[in-house]
Amino acid sequence: MYAAKDAGRHCARVYHPSLDESHERRQRLEQDLKRAVEDEEIYVRYQPIVDAQSGEVVAVEALARWSHPVHGDVPLDVFIPIAEISGLINAIGRQVLLHACREMRETGLDLAVNLSPAQFWDGNLYDEVQQVLERTGFPPERLELEITESLLLRRPQVAAAVIDRLRSLGIRMALDDFGTGFVSIAYLQQLTIDRLKIDRSFLAPLESQPDMREVLISIVDLAKAYHLEVCAEGIETPGQAQLARIASCGRLQGWLFGRPQAASAFQTVAFRA
Ligand code: C2E
Ligand code: CA
Ligand code: CA
Repeated sequence: MYAAKDAGRHCARVYHPSLDESHERRQRLEQDLKRAVEDEEIYVRYQPIVDAQSGEVVAVEALARWSHPVHGDVPLDVFIPIAEISGLINAIGRQVLLHACREMRETGLDLAVNLSPAQFWDGNLYDEVQQVLERTGFPPERLELEITESLLLRRPQVAAAVIDRLRSLGIRMALDDFGTGFVSIAYLQQLTIDRLKIDRSFLAPLESQPDMREVLISIVDLAKAYHLEVCAEGIETPGQAQLARIASCGRLQGWLFGRPQAASAFQTVAFRA
């Protein structure tokens, strides 16, 4: 069943003994993850996001991390799918949001937090976000929740209603990894989102493939036509940053400006400022 689910659901997989082994490993990891969530072993790293013109850090994106007591850091592409299948992703998402709002409150920076599809469709999400804002005193206008295109495909109208309700809390919504899914441009008209995050796959080839510069400029123009702000993701070189600026991306994110770091790195910046 897990092998079929991994292959994108709605398909069959023939049993093979090796599947048991990976299934057992996964089950062990799932048990460990459950305990890690209970013990609050999940922690958060923050990647800086800069204003494209001034180069100043204006925001951070919260990224979950899990350090396993025996195996060390577990890669996100291993633990997020396990968390999603087992339903633990909701608890993890809640912890990330709570920690991030607490740790970033005093920095004055905007804060972006990822929402998994399971969290997005959970009927309690609105109440949970509201409670976190109340408990932490984090200003709603500085919080942005990131969703991916894929969750819009299933029920776009219901998704639009969920987004509107969340935005009524005064927070902002962003569409993450834009350009990697199969979302029709028409969705942008139905949705009241605030920002597009253009996927790294559009930024990486900018220097080697001049055609991609036109593509990027067109995506940014499209976003502007819908009154959306734009953040370019995965910027690794000064050349990519320059081309993203020329295309009028408002915010830039990537290793060039900083890797995900502990909260203390930003608290010091705010203190000095
Ligand atoms: P994402 O939301 O697209 O996050 C950006 C990912 O790109 C991060 O990987 C970040 O470390 C990486 N990245 C940033 N700049 C660069 C760059 O210049 N070059 C390259 N090659 N990579 C860069 P990370 O931290 O491994 O996260 C992977 C994904 O896991 C995230 O992608 C997000 O979809 C998911 N994720 C992370 N934290 C959470 C969370 O708290 N909740 C949920 N639901 N998903 C999360
Ligand atoms: Ca993201
Ligand atoms: Ca992204």
